[in-house]
Amino acid sequence: MIPDNDLSCKHYYLCYNDIMNKVMIQYFEWYLPDDASLWCKVKTEAQKLAESGFDLIWLPPAYKGQGGKCDVGYGVYDLYDLGEFDQKGTVVTKYGSKDEYLAAIAALHDAGIAVLADMVFNHRMGADRTETVSATTSKADDRNQDLKKMNIDAWTYFDFKGRNGKYSDFIYDKSCFSGVDYDNRRQKTAIYRLAQDWDQNVDKENGNYDYLMGADLNFSNPAVVQELYRYGRWYLDMTKVDGFRLDALKHITSDFFKDWLDAMCDHANRQLFTVGEYWSSDLNILIDYLDHIDNRFALFDVPLHYKFYRACNDNSNYDMADLHTTLSALRPANAVTFVENHDTQKGQSLQTVVTDWFKPLAYAYILLRDEGLPCVFYGDYYGIAKYQTHSFKEEIDLMIKIRKNEMNGQRHDYFDHFDVASWTFEGQTGHDGLAVLINDGPMNNKRMFVGANKAGKEFVNLVNEKDLVIIDTEGYGVFNVGGGLYSIYINKDKITGYQPQI
Ligand code: CA
Repeated sequence: MIPDNDLSCKHYYLCYNDIMNKVMIQYFEWYLPDDASLWCKVKTEAQKLAESGFDLIWLPPAYKGQGGKCDVGYGVYDLYDLGEFDQKGTVVTKYGSKDEYLAAIAALHDAGIAVLADMVFNHRMGADRTETVSATTSKADDRNQDLKKMNIDAWTYFDFKGRNGKYSDFIYDKSCFSGVDYDNRRQKTAIYRLAQDWDQNVDKENGNYDYLMGADLNFSNPAVVQELYRYGRWYLDMTKVDGFRLDALKHITSDFFKDWLDAMCDHANRQLFTVGEYWSSDLNILIDYLDHIDNRFALFDVPLHYKFYRACNDNSNYDMADLHTTLSALRPANAVTFVENHDTQKGQSLQTVVTDWFKPLAYAYILLRDEGLPCVFYGDYYGIAKYQTHSFKEEIDLMIKIRKNEMNGQRHDYFDHFDVASWTFEGQTGHDGLAVLINDGPMNNKRMFVGANKAGKEFVNLVNEKDLVIIDTEGYGVFNVGGGLYSIYINKDKITGYQPQI
């Protein structure tokens, strides 16, 4: 069960044993109010989050975006402005000031929670002025095809006057960007390539998917690369974060981050847990990427999210056995599993909302399996105020508790039924393990093995306490699951401390 790469853990940014039973939370959703309060909130909540079982937290981009106080963080303007300088109409960011950010990290550390910083390196937005530059337009759906050459006025000059050279005097100009999507001279939108060529070793969608949005950083320019190294070291020294969430990997040359992370780990003199966003539902593309980076860091299990999305919309026509053909099953030490994120929620660029009835089933899948590190979405944990969605905090808290206390010993998988996916853990010494079933069809049951040493013991379903199972002499039980529901069975004697959910 333990992947080979564990043998050389010191060369990697994560080890299977390091992530076993751990849980991460993504501590923001797209529609948080623009009131600069998140850093203070997370500081206040740090202890509570630790008590709920969270080991890692992914905080949103902390630097100034072009949208100032309204920017979620992905419209990055100045990487060095963590809410310290009067730029884009505000000193603080959407989430608060630099001092509040640092105080939040310190509080999280005091509570024993590791902090991941969100690194958006692909693009910049909100340049300070335009420059005249020679550009070649690319065909939108085949970026390898040149169309026309012309001079355009591009938003590519960033001198960050409001910061006045503090921390770094690096000025970004047209030589730092491989492309833009706007010509200010003609007020026209297109894909304009500024560099000799697009960056290579990027996703092959649209021929070459280097360009996503804004002013796209040119990773072929050594000065840009050098500045990003300098920035990473500054960030580690300034914030003391424990790792990174890397944005938009499919648009950045895959050669970059492997070396960058090596340098960052050398600088920090410790491992830095890192997960990258490579937004593709194609498992083979993710595996190729992991191979290319020598499994140095983890990727979000995007294929699994799409399986959840299909399952919840398919009126029980989805084959639940198919859940298991995913990144976390193939590369458990290199996968971060999730149900939802700030991009998939309603109204966002990748909108693929996992509907409410299926959400607890999806959380049971990520939180009660030992493949991959599960990441709970803020919007699912607290609810989303903007459209008043339900909070799944009670269910998630329970599952995390079960994960920490009962999810151990040998796992047995039963991905053998069209509607019911299920599995058991035998439990280690002193533990009796558990049985989990998730069902997108009508009420059902399944005979599963929990260990011969459990013969005669009673297991109870925490979701419906009427479901009692006596384990037979061979160590099997027949476990029930309601229609469109999930079940979590544990030894009846252990029920104290676990509140029933329904
Ligand atoms: Ca790019």
